[in-house]
Amino acid sequence: MKRSIIYITESPGQTKKLGELLARTIAVGGAGKRARVLALRGDLGAGKTNFTQGLAAGLGIGATVNSPTFAIMKKYPLKDGNGFKTFYHIDCYRLESAADLAVLGVAEILNNSENIIAIEWPEVVKEILPKDILKINFEVVAENNRRIIF
Ligand code: ADP
Ligand code: MG
Repeated sequence: MKRSIIYITESPGQTKKLGELLARTIAVGGAGKRARVLALRGDLGAGKTNFTQGLAAGLGIGATVNSPTFAIMKKYPLKDGNGFKTFYHIDCYRLESAADLAVLGVAEILNNSENIIAIEWPEVVKEILPKDILKINFEVVAENNRRIIF
């Protein structure tokens, strides 16, 4: 049976906080064999970027993390990542297929255990993503409420 953890957040601040807490647990666990991949699924406005801002804060990233929709991929160095060295924020919303990501060297990025990768619209590129990723679904419940399912 597939088990899930479900959170309801009642503000953008709470969603960000949840991302922050998750980032801390990832950093404590330390690096594995390949990159740690967080697949963030949900409609536009569901809170994926907001949550990612929390991830970045929890990883000690001072820079502002905005939606990378136009940049596709943004890269942030980590100072005290317990073996993790780089955080990548990837947004596949405007991509046609996995081939569009391949040209950015994503295969190597996924293989590197020093990377933590948050990826919005992962379903667009699912064939190049590893199996052991953490899927997180974001659903709009009400104007300020989001259901976040791990
Ligand atoms: P996505 O990246 O999924 O398209 P964003 O994180 O960019 O979504 O935007 C989420 C929007 O929803 C923001 O405008 C934010 O202020 C609003 N919002 C309202 N309530 C929440 C909540 N509980 N969690 C996250 N965002 C919320
Ligand atoms: Mg977004």
